[in-house]
Amino acid sequence: MICPRCANDKTKVLKTIKSDTNERFRRCIKCGYTFMSIELIKVDDWAKFYIKETQKGLFDEAL
Ligand SMILES: [Zn+2]
Repeated sequence: MICPRCANDKTKVLKTIKSDTNERFRRCIKCGYTFMSIELIKVDDWAKFYIKETQKGLFDEAL
């Protein structure tokens, strides 16, 4: 992932918090800036089904 501070394309993953969205704590190798990123399921029919079944009510307006 590209560093949001200096646009370097090499960042190191320091920690991953796993769930249905993976959050990663990253550090830029070039400037040392730390930031978090989120990995999401790209929405398709299965993702809509999964979200509806597992998180009823949370995303009703978005789907
Ligand atoms: Zn950087």
